[in-house]
Amino acid sequence: MNKSAMISGITGQDGGYLAKFLLQKNYTVYGLYRRASNDTFFRLKEHEIFDKITLLDFDLLEFTNICRVIRKYQPDEFYNLAAQSFVSASWEEPLYTTQADGMGVLYLLEAIREFSPKTKFYQASTSEMFGKAVEIPQTEKTPFYPRSPYAVAKLMAHWACVNYRESFNIFSCSGILFNHESPMRGEEFVTRKITLHLAKLYNKLTDAPLKLGNLDSKRDWGFAGDYVEMMWKMLQNDNPDNYVIATGETHSIRDFIHEVSRYCNFDIEWQGNNENEKGIDKKSGKTIIMVDKQFFRPAEVDLLIGNAVKAKEILSWEPKVKFNDLCKMMILHDIDKTRK
Ligand code: NDP
Ligand code: GDP
Repeated sequence: MNKSAMISGITGQDGGYLAKFLLQKNYTVYGLYRRASNDTFFRLKEHEIFDKITLLDFDLLEFTNICRVIRKYQPDEFYNLAAQSFVSASWEEPLYTTQADGMGVLYLLEAIREFSPKTKFYQASTSEMFGKAVEIPQTEKTPFYPRSPYAVAKLMAHWACVNYRESFNIFSCSGILFNHESPMRGEEFVTRKITLHLAKLYNKLTDAPLKLGNLDSKRDWGFAGDYVEMMWKMLQNDNPDNYVIATGETHSIRDFIHEVSRYCNFDIEWQGNNENEKGIDKKSGKTIIMVDKQFFRPAEVDLLIGNAVKAKEILSWEPKVKFNDLCKMMILHDIDKTRK
């Protein structure tokens, strides 16, 4: 019989890539989504898998609903990708973020413990838990230092995962994923915000400069399509565990801008400092980027870079898409999309 997998956060970036991956492996896929007044299924449609998934109502904050879906379907695997995933928003909505990203995971683990203890559980943990990183690069053994309500909530969920594994023998894995992007990335995240706006400038659909915050923070950016394979691999191993998933390379926001600018014929030169800094296109003299302090964060994570050697040694995983290829994939997609 086909294996069954339940994916919460099916409408998000990773939900679409993971569902596509599991369908190719002949899984029966249950996609958990929360009702909305507008269409949140555009990614599933772009992946051409919308009609291949059984969609079920779900909300991380509704324990009765979580119990019902787990009890009724008792999936072989549960991938918890649902979250309030935007760090910036977590300072505006710290209580909601903690309820969803922290307590929501406890609800899921309790439902599994009670109604489907054989279900293997994947938790979408994050490199943001390393925050003000005390070690470079970061591994599974690096101490955590979360810097936002989002990271604090995710850290609670991470430890709940470990605790339910050790206390109740639940097969729960925590994937500590570093930033991963794609043409399906949410539009408020910095990479996609940049590619969409530069594509609009390139296609002359806007004249307005792109407003950004801190240009000097560095991230270890991988491709979402590579990372969902690791979620699955973790649940196929004999033992549940925690794994860092990363490329081992780090780049600043500035580096990302320069790399994608090449495809828009912009040659950006920086003028001014701090909140008065601007990125000017040398050829046209036009201002392409403006720093705007509204996008600075109350506490910043300056540098993330992961060491995924454990994933390589135990699960034979390595990322395929390099930084330059990721930049190219995203900007070409958005040039095409905005032109249409
Ligand atoms: P997205 O923001 O694209 O997707 C988040 C998903 O969670 C959406 O489907 C959203 O639904 C759903 N969701 C949000 N709140 C609730 C709720 N209360 N109940 C039910 N569903 C909810 O995130 P990604 O796909 O990029 O990331 C997937 C997971 O991985 C997240 O948990 C994220 O925190 C984590 N992560 C992501 C990283 C990255 O770089 N992408 C790095 C490390 C961890 P809706 O469409 O209705 O908003
Ligand atoms: P995060 O690592 O999960 O917070 O992913 P983001 O893409 O939201 O942010 C990555 C980095 O880009 C952070 O250090 C932000 O401070 C920085 N950044 C700079 N300008 C912006 C902006 O305008 N929007 C976002 N989202 N991030 C920005």
